[in-house]
Amino acid sequence: MTTNKKSMKFEAETKQLLEIMINSLYTEKEVFLRELISNASDALDKLRFAAITDNSLVPEGFSGEIRLLPDADKRTLTIVDNGIGMTYDEVISNIGTIARSGTHELIKSLEKQKTEKLPAELIGRFGVGFYSCLMVADSVTLTTRKAGEETATVWEYSGGESYDVREGTRDSQGTTIELKLKKADPEDGLEDFTSEWIIRRIVKKYSDFVRYPVILPVERPAESSADDDNGEDDKKKKVVKDETLNSMKALWQKSENEMKEEELSEFYKHIASDWSDPMMHIAMKVEGRYEYQTLMFIPGTAPFDLYSQSYKRGLQLYARNVKIMDRCEDVLPEYMRFVKGVLDAQDLPLNISRETLQNNRQISTIRSTLTKKIITELKKLKDTDGDKYLKFWEQFGAVMKEGVHSDFENREKLQPLLLFQSTHDREKLTSLEEYKSRMKEDQEDIYYLSGESREVVENSPHLEAFTQKGYEVLFFTDPIDDFMVSGLTEFDGKKLKSIGKGDVELGSEEEKKALEEKKKDFTAFLEALAKPLEEHVKAVELSNRLTSSPCCLVGSEGDLSPHIERMMRQSKLAIPSQKRVMELNAGHEVILRLKSRYDAGMKDEEISDAAQLLLGQALLAESSPLPDPAGFAKLVAKLMV
Ligand code: ADP
Repeated sequence: MTTNKKSMKFEAETKQLLEIMINSLYTEKEVFLRELISNASDALDKLRFAAITDNSLVPEGFSGEIRLLPDADKRTLTIVDNGIGMTYDEVISNIGTIARSGTHELIKSLEKQKTEKLPAELIGRFGVGFYSCLMVADSVTLTTRKAGEETATVWEYSGGESYDVREGTRDSQGTTIELKLKKADPEDGLEDFTSEWIIRRIVKKYSDFVRYPVILPVERPAESSADDDNGEDDKKKKVVKDETLNSMKALWQKSENEMKEEELSEFYKHIASDWSDPMMHIAMKVEGRYEYQTLMFIPGTAPFDLYSQSYKRGLQLYARNVKIMDRCEDVLPEYMRFVKGVLDAQDLPLNISRETLQNNRQISTIRSTLTKKIITELKKLKDTDGDKYLKFWEQFGAVMKEGVHSDFENREKLQPLLLFQSTHDREKLTSLEEYKSRMKEDQEDIYYLSGESREVVENSPHLEAFTQKGYEVLFFTDPIDDFMVSGLTEFDGKKLKSIGKGDVELGSEEEKKALEEKKKDFTAFLEALAKPLEEHVKAVELSNRLTSSPCCLVGSEGDLSPHIERMMRQSKLAIPSQKRVMELNAGHEVILRLKSRYDAGMKDEEISDAAQLLLGQALLAESSPLPDPAGFAKLVAKLMV
């Protein structure tokens, strides 16, 4: 056999990550075992799955297992599985490099934090599974043979910048990982990982639900037989027995009151590759035409890549106890992509393909039921534990809003989950229900204003008349809000209206009449102002929207808000240019004075300057950029002399 040993350098980022793990002061170092057992269990799942189509991959009477072989004298701990194994190339790409998209971000955020202790949430969010063994070992030898192949691959690392990889041998398929343990130092979380009792405790704590036996050979004194007179010698005799350390019960198959909090938490970490606790779990067992069980989790914090194209969503899918898919996307709508978990559907065919899944009736029924269940549970949480719900909303509120836009079926059910900032209370978010309960008697609609931040909308001239009338206005400051609102035209019989767009009927009948009268007298003046602004506004009009500002810009119903338009242009998205109407406050001194100057005869240039100044003010008030800032500054200077 050729043993063409090669020494290969780690890529810069993998190397950095290695150093982080090696020098980590992370105290719960024992979790390395959870990570390795988790990988072994995945490898066994993959073998079982591959064997559905190629049963030559597993010998007769095969049963998957994970063996832990400690050696106190040599100070090694070896983890052996008989799972799918890896090819030479897979070893290099899976173990030799860390191709995960998050690695770069992880290293960046660690550098930024300059923390000595590597926070668990951070490692967890980026998932550095295999490498966690370097927290406890100075060197690692991994020997693996892929099911269906003859040769094995040996990968070795013992510090430094490179690893060795060569062909080797292994009796059958699977992976063996030998760790040369660092010196025990319990203060630093480095316990004696060769001790039977420590291993037992760790496996029980983190991996009890793993569905393959985690076996530890244990030494016990031989039982002495009664008619043996060699009693003393027998006491010294030891026998080695295999013991299974985990209970192997699939957690989702237990009844909910049997599920312990700690168990749920560890199970979540196992399936979600997260190192921190979930926020909540949702368990469900459905019987009837389609039988299935699910155990879903909402993470404690939003994954860093939740909004990226490469984010992997979906539930693990089991059929008849075999994991047939790691991430089945079709069982949840896209906006619920933050939900992690397992779905066990007894009657699905084992060799179902992604394409047929999409059109599978059972899957679409499940999807609809799971979506409703999640919404119901969230509503329950909102009604019973407002603080916890708020935490959920902070992490996932924006994604839930995507649902209002895209999930026609559940739109109405999602509405009560929404929370917004509003003029009512600076500190607290409000629900639509609460808003409605505070509506004034003469108030017909629910009002909102979009903008890029609370500060901007709060000081917007558009708010003036509403504040004066005591009407509450919701603030839509999340970029998604503008899209969400297409699915939120009405709540509980009340229309939602943007106060930055379209006609908002405000004021009493007399006030409206008075305005109409005034408009007649203003027609020529308004047209004169509109002329030099042709490029920027559709028209200049009078309104009763304003009380203390002289003017503001108002879009048409269906227009994008100015900050969204800006954002889209910055992202180089082609969008039609949309002109707005400049509304003037007919009672404002500036406007009245201008009007009398106009009546007395103003030069075209003066009118143009006044128009530009008004437009500039309106844009600045809503935090929009000016078309010609230098020109505006000159005009202001001219006013001051
Ligand atoms: P993760 O498990 O989160 O993908 P790891 O660093 O733990 O990250 O493992 C990287 C990859 O190496 C795994 O996705 C898997 O393909 C492979 N791998 C790790 N351990 C084993 C094993 N015991 N058997 C087969 N493949 C493994």
